[in-house]
Amino acid sequence: MRTKKELENFIFLHKMKFVYGCKICKGKNPNCKCSIRHKIAVTAYESCIPQDFWWINADDIDNNKDIFENTVKVYVKNMNKALNGGYGLLFIGDNGVGKTYFISYVLMEAIKKGRTTYFTTMPDLDCNIKRGFKDQEIERRLRLMLTSDFLAIDELGKERSKNNNNYMDSQIERIIKGRLDDNQPMLLATNMDLETLEKAYGPTISSILLGKFQIVMMEPGDYRAKLRGRMLKDMGYE
Ligand SMILES: [Zn+2]
Repeated sequence: MRTKKELENFIFLHKMKFVYGCKICKGKNPNCKCSIRHKIAVTAYESCIPQDFWWINADDIDNNKDIFENTVKVYVKNMNKALNGGYGLLFIGDNGVGKTYFISYVLMEAIKKGRTTYFTTMPDLDCNIKRGFKDQEIERRLRLMLTSDFLAIDELGKERSKNNNNYMDSQIERIIKGRLDDNQPMLLATNMDLETLEKAYGPTISSILLGKFQIVMMEPGDYRAKLRGRMLKDMGYE
C-alpha cells in the first residue's frame, strides 16, 4: 500500500519526467497524451499495480491467448455487469504462467474507464493489516483501498502456510466474505488447486466463489522467458 507521502513523491517525479519532459508539449497542453498517461500512471501507482504491467499491449500476449481472448477481454467488455453483479475471476495456475499479467490488464482497463482499483498479494495484505494495528492512517487507507471497485488479491493461500494464526486468518476471511456479500467484484489468483483452496478457506467461501467467479485454469508456459528474451535484446547481451 502507498502512503500519502509516497504518492505525493511519485506524482512530483513522474510529472517532472513525463509531463514537463514531454517532447511534444513540454507540459503546456493538458490535453496532450503525456497528461492523460500521467493521470493513469498516478492511479496505477496508488492502486499498487506492478509497474511492469502498466502499459500491457493486448498484442504482446501469446501465452494462454485463448483465455485472454475468451475470458479476460470478455470480462473487460462486460465490466459494468461484473460491477453490478459482483462477478469476479479466479485464476488458477503455477507461478509464471501470467496470472498477475492478466489481472493487471483488467485493472488497467478499469482505471482507463474511471474505476477505482487495488492490487495486493496475500502476504502484503497480511503485512498491511498488521501495520494498521499500530498506525491509524495505514488502517484508514487500507480500509479505503479494500472498498475499491475492483480488488485484486494475488497469491491467495500463501499466507496460510506461515500464519498459523487464527486471528489473521479470520481478518482475511472477513475481507473476502464482506466483498462477496456486498457484490463487490474481486480478481483472485492462486497456485493452489480448488480442493486445497476449499480446505484452506472453508466451504462457505468456496461455494460463494463457485457461484460468482469464472474459474480460469491457466495452461503452463513461462511468460517470464519472453520478458527475459526482451531484456537480453534490449541490453545487447546476445
Ligand atoms: Zn505533452
